[in-house]
Amino acid sequence: MEFKPAGEIIGIAHQVRTVGLKDGPQLPDGYYTFVDFYCTKASCDCRRTLIQVLLNGTHVSTIGFGWESPEFYKKWMGAKSDDDYMPQMHGATVDFTSPDKVSPQGMLAFFNALLDEKWIAVFKYNYDAVKAQLANNRKTKK
Ligand SMILES: [Zn+2]
Repeated sequence: MEFKPAGEIIGIAHQVRTVGLKDGPQLPDGYYTFVDFYCTKASCDCRRTLIQVLLNGTHVSTIGFGWESPEFYKKWMGAKSDDDYMPQMHGATVDFTSPDKVSPQGMLAFFNALLDEKWIAVFKYNYDAVKAQLANNRKTKK
């Protein structure tokens, strides 16, 4: 699966979120920018985002976030029983590609504290916009 930043696909309509942090218990002070990436396969329905977190412009962490239920991903991955191994796709996790330049636990706690319905709606909206743009590109290429 290849992931690209939403802004690269849907253009300037896309905005990234930047949050200032001061005196956090586990993370350094500074401005944290969250750049959401989406899978670029038009036919894929993974319904998640990879978020690169930049601290004052440096990539310090990568978070995966899936907004659907654990059951959705289980079905999507084709898990037959509860014992089948599958990576956690529901909710927020520190991705295995994360550079972990800050505390992964601290980053996850910060992300979850910021996460609200509004932000989740932005991810869903961007995901749909990216998929629509990809479908469009495919049509015009033919
Ligand atoms: Zn996908």
